[in-house]
Amino acid sequence: MVQHISTQIAVIGAGVVGLAIAEALCAEGLEVVLIDPEAPGSGASYGNAGTIADYAVMPVGSPDVLRNLPSLLFNRNSPLAIRPGALGALAPWLLRFARQSLPGATRRNAQALAGLLEGAKTLWGDLAARIGGLDLMRGEGCL
Ligand SMILES: Cc1cc2nc3c(=O)[nH]c(=O)nc-3n(C[C@H](O)[C@H](O)[C@H](O)COP(=O)(O)OP(=O)(O)OC[C@H]3O[C@@H](n4cnc5c(N)ncnc54)[C@H](O)[C@@H]3O)c2cc1C
Repeated sequence: MVQHISTQIAVIGAGVVGLAIAEALCAEGLEVVLIDPEAPGSGASYGNAGTIADYAVMPVGSPDVLRNLPSLLFNRNSPLAIRPGALGALAPWLLRFARQSLPGATRRNAQALAGLLEGAKTLWGDLAARIGGLDLMRGEGCL
């Protein structure tokens, strides 16, 4: 059944990103509709390890990845697999990825990620407190 809803703001996708955006907008008094064919939080946000990974500042693209690209692409046991038929469509993205994996770009990207992650623990604590979920947080570090 098609449902017509009028709203100020629609957020597409009710994973942790969409939910956090919707919560922040609601806290500012705005009206938000979340749109998702699945139950909220049932995507990647359901199955992750749940660490607040503020240490994870190294971007996926790095000189190491570039150096290992041949074995990543051609080793049968590699975690990376690209269907030959998809290579054409992926080429522009792969070129951008390769450029972002050069040493200078990797340094800049790590700094940008560090800036984004700096306040993560505090902000997660604030969010958990607002939604009554502080009991879900544990500060035991991770190895
Ligand atoms: C195994 C694993 C472990 C991880 N561990 C960690 C960790 O320890 N710490 C950490 O910070 N991150 C971790 N991550 C990453 C983290 O889970 C994701 O970055 C995060 O959940 C992404 O949130 P999201 O809201 O973007 O996506 P999702 O949670 O996947 O939500 C996307 C939502 O969009 C919906 N959707 C898709 N297409 C449409 C459409 N066309 N219209 C409407 N809705 C649509 C989907 O149904 C889904 O509900 C892990 C990821 C994995 C896979």
